[in-house]
Formats: sequence, structure tokens, C-alpha cells
Amino acid sequence: MAQDNILRLVLGDQLNSHHSWFRRVDPKVTYLLMEIRQETDYVRHHIQKVVGFFTAMRSFAGWLSECGHRVRYLRLDDENNRQNFEDNIRQIIKEEQISRFEYLLPDEYRLDTALEAIASKLQIPSEARDTEHFICDRNVVKKMFHGKKRFLMESFYRNMRRKHDILMDKGTPAGGKWNFDQSNRNRYDGSVPIPFPKVFANNVTPIVQMVEHAGIDTIGKIQPNHFIWPVNRKQACLMLDEFVRFRLPYFGTYQDAMTTESWSLFHSRLSFALNTKMLHPMEVIDAALQSTSGGAKPRAGIEQIEGFVRQILGWREFMRGIYWYHMPEYENMNFFNHKTALPDYYWTGKTRMACMRAAITQSLEQAYAHHIQRLMVTGNFSLLAGVNPARVERWYLGIYIDAVQWVEIVNTLGMSQFADGGIVATKPYISSANYLHKMSDYCEHCYYRHAGKTGERSCPFNSLYWDFLVRHQTLLEKNPRIGMMYRTWNRMKPDNQQSLLHQAQVYRTHLNDL
Ligand code: FAD
Ligand code: SF4
Repeated sequence: MAQDNILRLVLGDQLNSHHSWFRRVDPKVTYLLMEIRQETDYVRHHIQKVVGFFTAMRSFAGWLSECGHRVRYLRLDDENNRQNFEDNIRQIIKEEQISRFEYLLPDEYRLDTALEAIASKLQIPSEARDTEHFICDRNVVKKMFHGKKRFLMESFYRNMRRKHDILMDKGTPAGGKWNFDQSNRNRYDGSVPIPFPKVFANNVTPIVQMVEHAGIDTIGKIQPNHFIWPVNRKQACLMLDEFVRFRLPYFGTYQDAMTTESWSLFHSRLSFALNTKMLHPMEVIDAALQSTSGGAKPRAGIEQIEGFVRQILGWREFMRGIYWYHMPEYENMNFFNHKTALPDYYWTGKTRMACMRAAITQSLEQAYAHHIQRLMVTGNFSLLAGVNPARVERWYLGIYIDAVQWVEIVNTLGMSQFADGGIVATKPYISSANYLHKMSDYCEHCYYRHAGKTGERSCPFNSLYWDFLVRHQTLLEKNPRIGMMYRTWNRMKPDNQQSLLHQAQVYRTHLNDL
């Protein structure tokens, strides 16, 4: 047996062409990528997510081969595909007479433990290497907040700005402020035309047919000859360039806006390219920073750039740190002890609530919703309705093209459902129709009346909002950011209070019929 044949495993979300592994071609190294049922079946995924990952993996394997690397690629329908990591790895080790196994550190706890176990059982030496993708290492939050009760994203983000000298001006924040939220977050008023989303027309028909033929249970829709998401680095870079030129100048201003006129407004839609690692977060940040001096027309102001950098340098890295600090116990957190089933319309979009219909239908069609749709529409509603957070989490993990557990679960259980009791968010993100009416045009197209608190066509968000606060008073009344709502509640006439609670009870009893 050859002494130094190396097998290197590349997972579907490790498509980082700049990784040091790929700098040198070594005939003794074989790269292994695999499409397996273990990965398609652990949750019900959107068809675009399955197809997007497989297509990007195939492009990446093609690129590796073109560079001269040895590649073994197992397609889902390959006869000798054992459909799980362990059996496939063992098989290839035998076939290729491998004497050393290497893999890149997975970002998901599930795969991290699985690969560690596989590696420990192999009869050959093995090694795990960094993906060289993130700006911080996994344990950054643990190190930074050691011994502290609260984990504030803002403190983390400022540290990162200082450490990496990003948007800093001689030790102080560029533009005189760390945070430009006050100038951002407007309702979309139509004064700036929204550019048509940058989409591609990838033909993925054979992969769609393969997935269908295999009988994989998916959700959502796909246009097989017009797959819109970037599937290789070239497309990912084009998308980044388009974002910086045409959307970044208004990114912060309309970051929280929702409109029936556009499904992505001025958002970048780069999360899939980032999470598969086709793009590096630092290159995305650099591209945004350069837009002040580059050729973008109109150029983005500091408040737009800061708003965007905060998402990548702040939120994205922070969420990952929280994930590695709190897994695996994070998965089972349920602070409010919510037990309700997820309403059926999360799978169909068939509801009279216009905001929910828009966010869910769009998610089924595009495998995408922007942050405020995820947080303040579908997430807000499931929290107010008392849906079991684990069921909500499964839905978010399946439906979005960018859903990888390390980022999805902390956003869903922490930021959106407050299931972690406040590790991530300082208060539950809940609202009545007021906020949704202020930030969107959904209410104009709705069966329900946004101003109605009780009665037949009153907006469900209104009574459910108060009902939620009353149900969880003991847990929330001391929260400094939400406590004042109890004073408003206490000032209401008892009759009004009873009507609101009665209305909420009616809606909660008929949750599936809303
Ligand atoms: P933009 O608005 O253009 O933002 C730019 C980038 O910043 C994003 O691509 C993303 O990489 C990063 N970013 C922004 N907000 C966050 C955040 N809160 N956490 C981490 N990164 C952030 N993001 C995922 O990548 N995968 C998920 O599975 C996911 N699930 C979510 C579930 C819920 C309930 C919520 C509230 C948010 C979730 N997010 C998730 C965060 C965020 O909604 C998406 O990153 C964003 O909508 C992706 O669209 P975009 O690329 O157009 O983002
Ligand atoms: Fe949503 Fe209520 Fe507005 Fe209808 S009225 S769109 S349910 S917030």
C-alpha cells in the first residue's frame, strides 16, 4: 500500500477556492465531494436549496479538476454511492489506497461530531483543518465574553471594527458614530427605483430530475432551466459587483422596508454565496468599503456602508460564535415553553393575512426572504401564536437557500423566537400591526384591518400581541426594553383587555384558518 496517499473531504458548504489546500497540485492528494441522502433527508429542504448546493458542488469539483487536482465526485444516483459519509469515505479509502484522511472543520455541530467520530474509527491518521473562511475563529465569543452574563453584539462588533481597522478613523469610528441606524430603516416610498434582482439562468434540469427520481421530499418551486442563484465563484463575484454598484447606495435606508413591489429590495442576496464559501466575508466587506472611492453610481454613503458591514462583520460572525458557545444545548431551548403546531399555511402560503401570504409565497417561490420578512412577519407571528420553537426552526432550516444550521438556528431560536431567554436578543422581537403597517404596503392588500384590535376582521397580530405579553408577564415584565408595554396594558379598561384576550383566544383556537 502506498504510504502517503491523502484523501481530503470537501463538504457542500466548503467551496472556498482560495483555501490553501488548493494552491498546489499534488498527485497524491484526492479530493472527495459527495451528494448523499444523509444530507438531503435530515430536514425537508426547499428544492432550490438541494439543487443549488449540488450544482455549486459540481461546478467546484469541475474547477478543481481543471486546475489539475485529482477529484472523486459521488453523484446522488451513482451506483456505488452508499448515501452516507462514513461508508463512502471507507469505500474510497479502500479503492484509492489512502493512508491519510483530512477534512475541513464543519460549521455544523451535527457534522463536526459525525466526522470526528468517523475519523477516530478509521485505521489511518486523520487531521481536521480550518476552512479559512471566517474572520474569527469558532471560539471568539467564548473568549471575548468569558464570565459575562450577556453577549452584546454591539460590543463584539466594535471590537471587530477596532481589531481589523474597518471603518475607523485614527482610533475613532469613521463618520463619528459606530451606528447609523437612526438615518437608516425607512419605509419604501417609491422615490428610488428598485433595480431588478440580479438573477442567473442556470440550466439545472438534470439535477432536478435526479432529485425527483430519487424521491427526495422537498418543498417549494423551481424553474429548472432558469435557476436564479449563483452556482460558481464567477457568478458570485458578479452578484457582489452588482450589489455594490446598484443596491448598496440604498441598502441601509431601506434595510427594514417590505413591499409587494419587490421580493429583495436593496438586499444583497449574497448569503448563499457566502454560506457555501464561494465568497469570503472579508472580500465582501472590502468591496463595500471600496465603493466610496470606486466607480459605483451613486456612491454609497457611510451610513449605507456601515449598515452593511455591521451585518457581515458583526451579526454573521457573532451568530457563529454564539452557536459554538451554546451547542448542543441551544437546540432544545424553549424559554416560553411554547407547544403549538406550526400552522399549515407556512407550507402553502394560503392565508388571508397579506403579510404572511407575501413572505411565505415568496419563500416557496424564491427560497429567499429578506431579514425583516423572516424576523417581523413569519417569526413574529409564530412567536405571538406560541408555536413550538423547534418546529419553527425546522421550517427555517428547510425553506431558505442560505439555511445552514450554524447561522439559521441562532437567528431562529435566539433572535426570532427568544427561545434562549435572551442570550442573543435583549427583548423578544414582537410587534402588532402598527409596525408592519409602518414598514410595508402589505396591510393595503389585506383581508384584515390593521387598525382593528377586536372583531371579525381585526388584524390577528394586534390581539395576539397583547395576549402574548399577558401570557408571559412573569417572564417579561422586568425586561427593561419591554416592561413599559405592561404599563400601557395596565392603563387599558378591563373591558378592552377582556375583548383583546377573547379575540386572541378565538384566533389561537382557529390558527389554521386565519
Ligand atoms: P443582506 O440583508 O444583504 O445582508 C448581507 C449579509 O449579512 C447576508 O448575506 C448575511 O450573510 C449577513 N447577515 C445579515 N443579517 C444577518 C444575521 N442576522 N445573522 C447572520 N448573518 C447576517 N441567514 C443565513 O445566512 N442563513 C440562515 O439560515 C438564516 N436564517 C434566518 C432565520 C431567521 C428567523 C432570521 C430572523 C434571520 C435569518 N438569517 C439567516 C439572517 C438574515 O435574515 C439573512 O442572512 C439574510 O436575510 C440573507 O439575505 P441577504 O444576503 O440579502 O442579506
Ligand atoms: Fe398583516 Fe395584519 Fe397588515 Fe394584514 S392587517 S397585512 S395580517 S399586519
